[in-house]
Amino acid sequence: MIEKVLNFLREHEQEMIMIRRELHQYPELSFEEIETPKKIASYLENIGVEVHTEVGGRGVVGYIRGGKPGKTVALRADFDALPIQEETGLPFASTIPGKMHACGHDGHTASLLLVAKALMTYQEELEGTIVLIHQFAEELAPGGAIQMIKAGCLDGVDVIYGTHLWSPFEVGQIGYLEGPSMAAADRFEIVVQGRGGHGASPHETIDAITVGSQVVLSLQQIVSRNVDPLESAVITVASFHAGGPFNVIADTAQLVGTVRTFDNKIQDYIIERIEQVTKGVCEAMGASYSYLYKKGYPTVVNDVNATRQFVEGQESLFKDLSFTRMSPVMGGEDFSYYLERVPGTFFFTGAGNQQKGITYPHHHPKFDIDESALLHAAQLLASSALTYLLKHSIQSEDVLSGK
Ligand code: MN
Repeated sequence: MIEKVLNFLREHEQEMIMIRRELHQYPELSFEEIETPKKIASYLENIGVEVHTEVGGRGVVGYIRGGKPGKTVALRADFDALPIQEETGLPFASTIPGKMHACGHDGHTASLLLVAKALMTYQEELEGTIVLIHQFAEELAPGGAIQMIKAGCLDGVDVIYGTHLWSPFEVGQIGYLEGPSMAAADRFEIVVQGRGGHGASPHETIDAITVGSQVVLSLQQIVSRNVDPLESAVITVASFHAGGPFNVIADTAQLVGTVRTFDNKIQDYIIERIEQVTKGVCEAMGASYSYLYKKGYPTVVNDVNATRQFVEGQESLFKDLSFTRMSPVMGGEDFSYYLERVPGTFFFTGAGNQQKGITYPHHHPKFDIDESALLHAAQLLASSALTYLLKHSIQSEDVLSGK
């Protein structure tokens, strides 16, 4: 069956590309998806998939129940876009100003839709159930995954697979990781409260800009001086707002930034240290402060066994792809919520192409993918599901146990 499904996908590569281009022209932002889930649901309904809509809000879940009993595998694709003005100049570029599929989620969706079509074609032979999780709002915390899980999309699921099209990797390269793979991505905000005044009389003020600047510099020492050098973490102050006219000393300074970690203890430690450092600097300078820390998605932790089985199974099937163990990614992903509940693996499907100039990073106005990666993503998702079902086939267990 695997061979037949892979061939089916190869023969329908063009359809996959057309769907991706269609989605690409009409991007919708996280938590604002209306047309995209409708398109997904109607595609699935047309090919005979049992479809549940508005799952956890805007999610679409499809169920393909095989002709034979077996385990249940979930495959996930996200479908939201980003508030970015597209600058690719592609003939199928975004038609909506200020919105763009700049992370490849259009491609994830197109791949999974064709996986559904292929599996429906061979539904009678399928041993087990495939749950197609079309997820809204991956790009914006709290994300769509957690809501879809609460609505039951993982009920009865034994294992889950997902992939991200990945422009830093050349097309044909597949990246995998075991254990902590993508960072917890948090947001913090500090407001330094000084006492504004005349630019000519600093002695009568508490200058929020000088205090805030010291806070920024001191925060840089947490990772370099407090965190174990064999562990990893990032503290980035991404925004600093203060001041007005040239001759007025600023009253307040607002600092906003992100923290990335792979370990809960280090995360908690950093949350505490940011406050200690801010408090210390502000007290020394006579300023006060407020501090808000908002945890984003937890760390993506790939199940070690599921990842090994994925690599072993797929490496032997796809001789033309090269499988590479990659370093953890500092970006966040709400695929983490699925992996907190069921084993599985999230892998990276190379979608860059130096020769074609497809080299821009994700979330860039010129981001693009080499569309031949769509077939790779679809084939790998389908075949990892089928390999798992085959390995856990009730019939083969019966044979082994002599029943
Ligand atoms: Mn993404």
